[in-house]
Amino acid sequence: MAPWKAPGKPGRFQVVINGQTHPEEFGAEGADWHWQAGGSVSLKAGKNTVALRDLTGFDGRCDALLLSNVPGYTPPEGKTLAEARKNWLNPGGKPEDAGEFDLVVVGGGYAGLGAAISAARQSLKVALIQDRFVLGGNGSSEIGVWAMGGTMRGKYPRLGEIVEEFADRAPDSPGLPEDFKDALKETVCRNEKTLSLFLGHFAHGVVQDAPGAAIQAVAALDVRSGRERVFRGKLFVDCTGHGTVGALAGAKHSMLEKGHMGMALT
Ligand SMILES: Cc1cc2nc3c(=O)[nH]c(=O)nc-3n(C[C@H](O)[C@H](O)[C@H](O)COP(=O)(O)OP(=O)(O)OC[C@H]3O[C@@H](n4cnc5c(N)ncnc54)[C@H](O)[C@@H]3O)c2cc1C
Repeated sequence: MAPWKAPGKPGRFQVVINGQTHPEEFGAEGADWHWQAGGSVSLKAGKNTVALRDLTGFDGRCDALLLSNVPGYTPPEGKTLAEARKNWLNPGGKPEDAGEFDLVVVGGGYAGLGAAISAARQSLKVALIQDRFVLGGNGSSEIGVWAMGGTMRGKYPRLGEIVEEFADRAPDSPGLPEDFKDALKETVCRNEKTLSLFLGHFAHGVVQDAPGAAIQAVAALDVRSGRERVFRGKLFVDCTGHGTVGALAGAKHSMLEKGHMGMALT
């Protein structure tokens, strides 16, 4: 969040261990992903509790806390990090077959919710894979962009009907987290018998015979356990908001940092 330069540097947080707030303040060093040294801490034998305390009111950004008993330990970065992380979380683990679905939807923002719910209501067996633990993407409590799109209008009176079932009525954008109805979005999904929801699953690979060939499965990482799950499907929908699945499958893809909202027409 640092590029935003908002007052209070959104993203600052502290770590609370066994109820005691650790003095180091995290999340204000820079915009890019990096490890931040936290100093030393004494843990007790057996169970310890670790919690995060947000200091900005805009969800402090923390990917991982890494504790080591090796003094001066430097964690891996870049390419070696992903492999190391896999081994830490799930040593020697093999991917788990999550089953076969008629439709695998990746991304649980408004687009993914609409696609998954609509398909389930047509009796398709659907997997909805979402990396965060809340649904809504930009329109979730975590980001806070309100739903102000024009639905059910003019020639398309039914377009957006499903969205209206879970859309927020937030009076402000970005608004208060509780105005964004994360729980309602999840309830609407869970009420669909043929829809399986996989929260906290980050899609990071596709299975194909060759780059550019049809996708047979999507591989996703369970972000809490580090377990990899493979979702086989007849059809796939990329609702990641940035074309991740298509890019992984070898589709032409570009991502521009500045000057664009919407499609890049180059
Ligand atoms: C500041 C701002 C203001 C805006 N204002 C308006 C407006 O006034 N009117 C309007 O109509 N639109 C507006 N928009 C745009 C609107 O918010 C988006 O078009 C819409 O939310 C996009 O929905 P989506 O589901 O496609 O993507 P997103 O909301 O981005 O959802 C994508 C979801 O996929 C998840 N995901 C991403 N990668 C993976 C992965 N690899 N594995 C699993 N899950 C993944 C993400 O966590 C996210 O939850 C605004 C956007 C922003 C940022």
